[in-house]
Amino acid sequence: MKKLVAIIGYGGQGGWHAEQIRKSDVVALAGVYDIKPERNEVAKSRGIYAYSSLNELLSDKKVEIVVVATPNDSHKELSIKALMAGKNVICEKPVMLSVADLDEVVAMANKTGMHFTAHQNRRFDVDYLAIKKIIQEGKLQDVINVESRVFGSRGIPSDWRGQKQFGGGMLYDWGVHLIDQITQLLPNEEINKVFCIAQHTTNFEVDDGFKLTLIYKSNKTACVEVGTLNYLTMPRFYLQCKKGSAKINEWKQRATVAYCKYWNEKEVMPVQTAAGITKTMAPRDEITLDEYVIDIPISDVHDFYRNFVAAIDGKEQQLVKHEQSRLVLKVIEKAFESIEKCQVVDFD
Ligand code: NAD
Repeated sequence: MKKLVAIIGYGGQGGWHAEQIRKSDVVALAGVYDIKPERNEVAKSRGIYAYSSLNELLSDKKVEIVVVATPNDSHKELSIKALMAGKNVICEKPVMLSVADLDEVVAMANKTGMHFTAHQNRRFDVDYLAIKKIIQEGKLQDVINVESRVFGSRGIPSDWRGQKQFGGGMLYDWGVHLIDQITQLLPNEEINKVFCIAQHTTNFEVDDGFKLTLIYKSNKTACVEVGTLNYLTMPRFYLQCKKGSAKINEWKQRATVAYCKYWNEKEVMPVQTAAGITKTMAPRDEITLDEYVIDIPISDVHDFYRNFVAAIDGKEQQLVKHEQSRLVLKVIEKAFESIEKCQVVDFD
């Protein structure tokens, strides 16, 4: 039997959930509720039941799961209300605006015995999964540095994302996804220090881009960069390991891997640049370097709902663990501290 889901907030992402739920093999849509009547009318025009109030939604006994898909500042209040009403909750990212808020909500989930999760759907992105696979296979040996970037060129959206009071800004928007992915790529590494610079290219109230560096106790580094005023992009992922490098240029492109077969080279052909020559920066030849592409991993974002339903039924562990969400929020808090002080800050 499919579990019934109700969605709070029927905007862009609420609409995405409604579509996914309609196609799901484990959940079905009971209805939606949006604070704006016009959004409820849109839902009705699409054949979706629109609750007349939040109370009506939360009182619907058939509903087992509530999706919170409202602007970021309302996640805490709505999640707590839904948990108290005896619902399991999938809360959109950023799951909360602070570690303290997350701790409160998790305490409520524990008290009510309900399941609560952040919707980290980008764990199903194939670019991320390809880099994860390359790291896990270990052929390239130790990671030295991993970089993750997304660049747009239209500035930060002019909606609530551009306003501080609603939890706007790119650290809370794309940052959450990329930091979650990066911390999953190096799950056994402990962060030592954090440095972050914010950009304000089209918006001065919130960050509309940032460059974040995590320095691990092992001296590995991870860089996350989000830009909203870049007319050319950089690779989506760049991985530097002891025995090779990997790169993915665009979201759904295959990863290119360069594997160093032999460290020593017989002869290095210098590169002639416009104003000189270099051997240090000359490319390697095919004798010492093997270059190849890897297949795009198979991924199904519906596994997120499948896992949450299985977790509610006690059959699986929840994919997104509270301590993982906590780590992401702590990184964001430290990033804001670093931006404020304009210096490297300790993680602990
Ligand atoms: P949006 O502005 O398009 O939609 C938000 C909707 O929530 C609006 O229709 C608004 O009227 C409604 N709303 C506001 N307060 C409400 C309340 N108290 N009760 C009921 N409805 C309320 O925003 P969006 O792009 O849909 O983003 C919503 C959330 O989803 C954000 O937290 C965002 O970060 C997240 N999101 C996640 C992803 C993802 O890939 N996981 C993608 C986009 C957005």
